[in-house]
Formats: sequence, C-alpha cells, structure tokens
Amino acid sequence: MTDRPQPETASRRRALDHEEPLIFELGAPGRMGVDLPEPENFSDRLGDLSRSREIGLPGLSEPQVVRHFVRLSRNNYSIDAGLYPLGSCTMKHNPRLNEKLARLPGFAELHPLQPAATTQGALALIDAVGHWLKVITGLPGIAMSPAAGAHGELCGLMTIRRALEARGDARSRVLVPDSAHGTNPATAAMCGYAIDAVPGNARGRIDLEALKAKLDDDVAAVMLTNPNTCGLFEDQVLEVAEAIHGAGGFFYCDGANLNAIMGRTRPGDLGVDAMHINLHKTFSTPHGGGGPGAGPVVLSEALVPFAPLPWVVEQGEGFALVEHAVGEAAQSLGRMRAFHGQMGMFVRAYAYMLSLGAEGLRQVSEDAVLAANYLLAELDGDLTPSFPGPCMHEVLFDERFLKDTGVTTLDYAKALIDEGFHPMTIYFPLVVHGALLTEPTESESKESLDQLIAAMRRLVQRARSGDTEFFQMAPRHAPRRRIDETRAARNPVLRWRPPGKDQPAE
Ligand SMILES: *Cc1c(COP(=O)(O)O)cnc(C)c1O
Repeated sequence: MTDRPQPETASRRRALDHEEPLIFELGAPGRMGVDLPEPENFSDRLGDLSRSREIGLPGLSEPQVVRHFVRLSRNNYSIDAGLYPLGSCTMKHNPRLNEKLARLPGFAELHPLQPAATTQGALALIDAVGHWLKVITGLPGIAMSPAAGAHGELCGLMTIRRALEARGDARSRVLVPDSAHGTNPATAAMCGYAIDAVPGNARGRIDLEALKAKLDDDVAAVMLTNPNTCGLFEDQVLEVAEAIHGAGGFFYCDGANLNAIMGRTRPGDLGVDAMHINLHKTFSTPHGGGGPGAGPVVLSEALVPFAPLPWVVEQGEGFALVEHAVGEAAQSLGRMRAFHGQMGMFVRAYAYMLSLGAEGLRQVSEDAVLAANYLLAELDGDLTPSFPGPCMHEVLFDERFLKDTGVTTLDYAKALIDEGFHPMTIYFPLVVHGALLTEPTESESKESLDQLIAAMRRLVQRARSGDTEFFQMAPRHAPRRRIDETRAARNPVLRWRPPGKDQPAE
C-alpha cells in the first residue's frame, strides 16, 4: 500500500458517466444505409405475412454505434472490473486462454449440421470433456446437451421420470429441502411432480428424520444441493442416499457448488444418481449476461439408458453420433434441445481442465474453501455468521448484525456498490432472515479479499453509528440509484415505443 490518500469510495469516475439513450432514440430511420432498387418482375409470395409498414429501425453511423455500446458497457459491473461475491453463482475469473482456444476457427466456425466425418475433432473434445466430468464425479454416464444448470435439472428429472415409467412405477412427489435454489422446485413442477419441502435442522443441514418421515413409494426423487446453499457440506449425505434408495426413488444432486469439492470427494461415491454441473460456474466459462451456460448432467448406471440424445460414441478409429431413439438408445428420452450443446463452453471447460490438471482442479476447491473461511474468520464479530464454521466455498451471514440500526440487508448491499463491489447474494437462502450469501471464489488474491473485508467492516461501523440515511440513499455513485424492484417486476416495460407515443398501459 502506498501513502496515496485513500478515496472514500472506489467509484470515482462520475465525469465519465453518460446518460445513454435507447438506440432507437439516437438514430432516425432512413438516415443511413443503402436503398436497393425494387427488383424487376418482383412478385410477393408472402401474402398476408409481408410487411405493411415501416418498422422504424434506427439509422446510425458506425461511430455512433460503437460509442453507444461502449458507453453501455461502462455502466456494467463485471468480474473483469472487480470482486463479485455473488453467493451460489461462482463469479470467478475466466482465464483468457479459454477464450483464445474457443475462438479457434476449427471450433468457432463449425456448423452443427456438418457430417460427423468432418467434425471428428469437435466430437473428440465433447467426448473428452464428458469423460473428465465422469472421472471427477465418479459417475458412469453423461448427458452433454443441457444448456444451463436449470436445464440440467430438467434433464435429470426427465431422465428419472423416464426410468421410473420404464419400470411401471410412475411416482408423483419430489422432496426438496427448504434451503434449495428456486430452480429445484421449479424443475420438479415443470416435470409434473408435486413438491414436498423438507425442513433444515439447526446446523443448517437437511433434517434427516423429517426426510425419512416423508419417504414412501410415491417419492420419485430427493433433490439435494451439496455443499448446500448455506455453504455447508451435507454431512449426512450417505444416510440421505440410503434412505431414498431404500424407498425406491432416485437421488438428484444440484451440483452448482462442485467447485467446493472437486478433486476431494466424488458425488458418485456419495450415492448420487444424477447431478448437473454448471460449466459456467465450476469450469470458469463466462456467465451472467456475458454468455450462454452449459449444464452437463452425470448419471448413475440405472439412468444411463434413458439419457437424452445425441450421444457421442467411439466408433472404430473415430467418433459417431447416436441421434435417434433406436437400437442401444431405444429407451432414451429424446432430445432436450437442437444439436449437441454449447460447443464454445465445452472448449473453454476443456482448456480449463487441461491447463490446471488434476492437481490444479484439486487446488481450486482448496482455495475456494480457504477464501470463504478467511472471510468468515475476519468478519465474524462484525457480521453475524448464520452457522458456526468452517464453511465450504461460501459463507452465509444474516441480518442480526444490523439489529436496531435501522439498516436492512438490502440497504447494506446497496451501500457495498458505492464501495466499488458487486453485492453478495441477498435474501437467499430463505432459511435465515436477511441472508447475505458471500462467495469470494478461488481466483481472488488475499489483497482483494482484504479490500472487501475492509469495506464490509466500514459499512458495519457506519450502520452502528446511526447514519441510516447514508444507507437508504445508496447507491449514490452507480449509473442508477435505488430501483423500485417491485414495480419493475410487476410492471415491466418490455416493448420500445417511439418517443412521444404512449407507453403501453399495463
Ligand atoms: C446457479 C444455480 C442453479 C441454476 O443454474 P443456472 O445455470 O443459472 O440455470 C441451480 N442451483 C444452484 C444451487 C445454483 O447456484
């Protein structure tokens, strides 16, 4: 540290903030571009589908377009700009090597309908990523195509439903802990199951006895997150697996938090039947407004025959695709989506695996857990941890440290924006009041963790000093001030109207 005066906040770039209008407000239709003459002998075969009026696309010059998007990008907080401790989301650094490899023309310019003879390298890569995910998780099967975590959950539960129906045992309920990510009950409901919530215990884990009391021959699956959304390892996971298997159901594990256990414990050894892996979390591919996700699902032996298509299989010297539910794939549930999955994400994940190697992947989980425990140890006493440590890769605080200050969890998180940090996840999980779920990730240096800790402490002191107005006015230095989130959710304005025209009445 130099003895340079420390700014009060980290965001000092207000002179560069621009109030950027919509692109439709910037350009006038018809200003730019080329008008081609009407072709001779033109007959319109679209009939009623042909356009009857101008659609009002803005006309803009190249410099106008460039400035518009560069200015918008500067209003955005990103992992490349600073620490992003959004719990459960694993906002870690995306190595530039991954980006470089994903842009190799041999991968980036492939067409998914090319004949397999011309895409052998890509198929080999898909197969290799799948292979290493199976090795890391200790499970024998994999479905590569799901497009994100939630889609992977859907894939897992559809596979389970298919397996149950194949044995003539369609069941109707899925057990979900009350600390689960919202996608878990949503997925079960999408699959047509009734959701039965299992409470947690005082140690922040699933209540095993409550789970057992709910088990019967109508339960299709239990969905458990491990480590769970309180940042804790489910230490009775073996008993959970035994109980659900004893009742003839399947064990779905939400694997979004694999970065905490990778290289240390294998879900397959814990009795898991199906688990999605968020490549965009654990395997460092960009996410959150920045790109697509990828949610491959590993499967136990019992579920392998029902996995969705396509399958990449070794054939002779090379690879082939099984694309139809016939022969060995006769029991497959069919396709979850067009084509093979998110190829660019597979390349990035493969680059990440190969550049770290087995030792490096093991180090990832060690560093992720160490960083979260450093926050827990340093902030215990300033903030109130919901459960005693050690934690896994994220640490859960709750609002008790704000008691009698007049400051809420939301106010505190908004004030952190003025300090130059993206806030942690707030009000999730629902099992504690005013949750602040903080995931530093393994790619932060000790120096940046120390900056976050100092900022979080400063805000605690300020809250205790009675300066509630400071918090209620936050964020002061962001492109937007406090947004009315309820109104935004209830009355979203999703359609642009030309200036002067009335906004849609909602
Ligand atoms: C991120 C996450 C999901 C959903 O993954 P998406 O890729 O966002 O669909 C599910 N469960 C948990 C615990 C998560 O953190």
